[in-house]
Amino acid sequence: MTDLVVFECARCATTLFPARYLCPSCGGARWHERIAAHGTVIAATVVRHRVAAEHSGPVHVASIATDAGPIVIARIDADVQVGDAVSVDIDARQRIAAHRREQQGD
Ligand SMILES: [Zn+2]
Repeated sequence: MTDLVVFECARCATTLFPARYLCPSCGGARWHERIAAHGTVIAATVVRHRVAAEHSGPVHVASIATDAGPIVIARIDADVQVGDAVSVDIDARQRIAAHRREQQGD
């Protein structure tokens, strides 16, 4: 697994994902990288029909409000629900993935 990296404006601390050339808040062009390791599920849905993917199963996706700031769209496990605390990473196929965090740390 790989860490999800988001971008924090060096001038005004606005955080973004994905990256942009210029900060939408202040126009700055210098960024610090921040790891977004955790977040909270704010919306979840299931994609059941995808063009050119007829034989694959349903795909569960969610909007995750990351602790680092930006909201990202991630693949989730089927049992993840709105309000769950999740860990966030990049999976082996370079997709953002989120997994529900167990109560006893992770
Ligand atoms: Zn800025």
